[in-house]
Amino acid sequence: MRLVRVRAGGHDRWGRIDADRVVLLDGSLADGFRDTVESVRLDGTALLAPVQPSKIVALASNYASHAAEMGKPIPTEPKLFLKAPSALIGPGAPILIPPRTTRVDPEGELALVIGRRLSRPSPQEALDAIWGYTCLNDVTCRDFQKADGVFTRAKGFDTFCPVGPWVETELDPSDLLVQTIVNGKVRASGRTSEMIFNLAEQLCAIASVMTLLPGDVVSTGTPPGVSPIQAGDVVEVLIEGIGRLSNPVEDRDDR
Ligand code: MG
Repeated sequence: MRLVRVRAGGHDRWGRIDADRVVLLDGSLADGFRDTVESVRLDGTALLAPVQPSKIVALASNYASHAAEMGKPIPTEPKLFLKAPSALIGPGAPILIPPRTTRVDPEGELALVIGRRLSRPSPQEALDAIWGYTCLNDVTCRDFQKADGVFTRAKGFDTFCPVGPWVETELDPSDLLVQTIVNGKVRASGRTSEMIFNLAEQLCAIASVMTLLPGDVVSTGTPPGVSPIQAGDVVEVLIEGIGRLSNPVEDRDDR
């Protein structure tokens, strides 16, 4: 299934892509989705962020060559941080550059969507709890990250978490090409097989600290190739087997 969220009939609705249409769904990720008799054309329907998480947990330095380019040691256990759910935007919505920052970088990442409550799981229980996969852009003010030493401001601005275009449920995530593309040029590139900590290790580490709930999002870290963006750019995260998440970049109106 390719799960989306769309604005239809004045409401935000779940849907699934069926050829050139979006079949609208009842239900929820936790309780299961059911087809309705309603559908809208995919072409011409704006897609919203296809997730509604209680939290977004992300990994820092999970690709050795990205850790090296950032001058960071290779971690011996998963380095976790939180992104604010209020930063979520969907495909096509603008990433807004806030005032005073001198460098904003996109980070294209494979993200997991959790399908069931997960606390202190075994590795197999952790893998069984993955509902699907999507593209996530972990947008970062690199100067604020360095200045603060913590990530909350640098990665927490509104619009700094584009996700989409959909959640793909039928996918083998073990060796996918993950690329960040700016204005049509590949800036960052890697394969999910190059992760330092695999998906089970990441989920076990997270869920030994905090209970993951249905709908929560886990972002698995960015491959090497960070470089800045500015207003007027178009950023894409392209992941093999999922698709292409594209967002324009604009200055916020107080910049
Ligand atoms: Mg990242």
